[in-house]
Parts: sequence; C-alpha cells; structure tokens
Amino acid sequence: MQNYPVANINLAALKHNLSRVKQLAPDCQVMSVIKANAYGHGAIEVANALDDSDAFAVARLDEGLRLRESGITKPIVILEGVNSEEGIHKAAEHSLSLVFHHESQINLLMTTQLKSPLNFCWLMVETGMHRLGLAVENCQDALEQLSSSSNILGQVGLMSHFANADTIDDSRNIQQLTNLKQLITQDEMPTSMANSAAILSFPDSHGDWIRPGLMLYGISPLEGQSAKELDLKPVMQLESQITAIQELKEGEQVGYGGDWTAQQATKIAIVSIGYGDGYSRQLSNKASVIVQGQLAAVVGRVSMDMIAVDVSKLGNINVGDKVTLWGDENLTLETIAELANTIPYELVCQVSERVIREYYNGEA
Ligand SMILES: *Cc1c(COP(=O)(O)O)cnc(C)c1O
Repeated sequence: MQNYPVANINLAALKHNLSRVKQLAPDCQVMSVIKANAYGHGAIEVANALDDSDAFAVARLDEGLRLRESGITKPIVILEGVNSEEGIHKAAEHSLSLVFHHESQINLLMTTQLKSPLNFCWLMVETGMHRLGLAVENCQDALEQLSSSSNILGQVGLMSHFANADTIDDSRNIQQLTNLKQLITQDEMPTSMANSAAILSFPDSHGDWIRPGLMLYGISPLEGQSAKELDLKPVMQLESQITAIQELKEGEQVGYGGDWTAQQATKIAIVSIGYGDGYSRQLSNKASVIVQGQLAAVVGRVSMDMIAVDVSKLGNINVGDKVTLWGDENLTLETIAELANTIPYELVCQVSERVIREYYNGEA
C-alpha cells in the first residue's frame, strides 16, 4: 500500500543534474549544496546519490553533524560557521570545514585550543550582498590570522555570494566578482563564488569551487529559461490521491469561506494535500493539478489537509486516483511557485515531514 501524499525523488535525475553542472564547469571542484534537508529532498539520500561531488555544503553545524552520523565521509562545509566553543570543537572533531564570516568567529578560533585541527576552511568576503562576510579591507589580516593558526590544517579559501546572480548581465555581479578578485594575491588561493544561477550564466565567476544548489534538484534559477531548456531534470514530483468526490449543483460552494461557487453542476474531487504538507495556501483558486494526464483547476481555499479540484471535464474519476501537484512536464514546480507568489526554493523547502519521500531511479 502506498501512503499519500508522497514526494517521488528521482535519484537518476539528481545525478544527471550533477553531471550537467560538471559539463558547465569542467575544471571546477563541486561543493553540492544540501542545506535545509537538501531543499526538502532528504539530505542523507541526496548526499549518497551525489557522491561524485567533491564536497557538500550545509548552512549549520547540526546539519553537518547529522550527515556525519549517517556515515557521509566527504568534506562538508558549514556555510554559516560556528559561534561557540562547543561548536568549534564539534566541527573539528567531526572534520567539518568552517566558513569564517565575522570577526567574532576568527577570535573564537584564535582563543580556542583544538584537540585536532580543522580541515580546509573558508573566509567569507563581503562583496556587495551585505549579509555575511568581512569587509574587503579587513580580509588580508584575517587571512593571515587564519593561515597561521595551528587550529587550521591546510588551505584557507576565499568565498563570497552573489545577491543578483539570477539577473543575467547585472553589473552588480561583475562588481562583486571584481571586489573578490582584488584579494587574490597567490595563485594557489582557492576561490568560490558561483551558485546555480552564476554557474549557468556567468562562467567568469566560476573560480575553483562552485556551489550548486537549486539546479541539482532540476529547477531553473533563471527567469525565462525553463529547466528543460537548461537540460536539467526535475527531481521531485509531488503526488497525492483523490479521497472523495462531490457533485455540486449550480450555486453551491466548496471549502472554507465558500470562496468558490459552482456556476453549473460540477464534479469536485477532494485531494489529500494541503498547506500542512507544504502545498501553499496562496494556491487557493489559482493552481491546477494533473488527474489522468489532464489539468484540473484547484477551486476554493487550500485547507490544511485537502484541496478541491474541478474534474467535471474529465472522464470516469474514482476515489484513490492519483493526482500530481507538481513535477510534471505540463505542471512544473516553477509554474506553481509563480502562482503561489514565491520562488521554487521556498516550495520544496516547505514540503513537510508528513509527506513521505520515495526514492527511485527513473529516467535521467
Ligand atoms: C544556498 C547557497 C548556495 C546555493 O545556491 P543556489 O541558488 O541554490 O544554487 C550557494 N552558496 C551559498 C553561500 C548558499 O547559501
């Protein structure tokens, strides 16, 4: 028996997308970004499938520790670094690489005596986003401190992050890259700047280590360019099933608030998915779903556990029939995100624990 709703995760597609990343940047090392439970896809399963990566990146220490506990041995970079003595000891103990983005983190390193040194670490440079990083003029000193510390074994690289990479040819991207480049004093100093959008649209920014996130999951980071056009394969397909069928007469309403009224006799299918699963309430009266290969409109408000769809125009519909919410060629996540007034990143991250992840190797 299959439990619904389910997020079907195509590991072959994931691998295809990693090979696509490598094709776009053949000389780069790849740090696959699997923070936030691999954008909702399941961090451990994704890490295992992406073992062709040179390293993984997560936002927080706990995310890295969980990967280590599950047996992932590749380098793991903690993008937000750590802020406590306990944290830095844990990072060292579990061979996690740290990003240092604030003076306080460097002070922490300098005043702690680690039992075993940290691996390869990164200095985050503030180049224009004004979120994390040291000002360019303070980086030389910081680099010297980090490189001379006996708490770090191996290299210290320069990292920064684009604020506008999804806008192709934005002059602010060039400025950010220029700001980073002025710090490169030695040829062997590793650099890392590019996220998915920059990997695809700004080859000059690739540097030594690229940091793909979104594109690994087969989602386009570029407006106006579909995943298909970019040769990326969607990894997640969100699916549920019909749990009830209602025949409405003209003038009858469906769901909370009676936000939708039947203009004529209408057959409504109730589908087991709602905002409690991560199906945004913004999609009320807006989205479509796929039933029997055909689009059917979501009518009325999205509830916590259910939605209603108009299936009047479809053939014979039964309780138990499969419904696709996104991840179909004719119903992409990107389209659904636009209808929900958000970005695909948010929708995949919000797929809740209640949704079962099923892993399979499908077409790639
Ligand atoms: C999340 C993140 C990425 C990945 O970005 P995508 O747009 O998903 O490719 C890269 N670098 C940093 C620092 C991040 O926080």
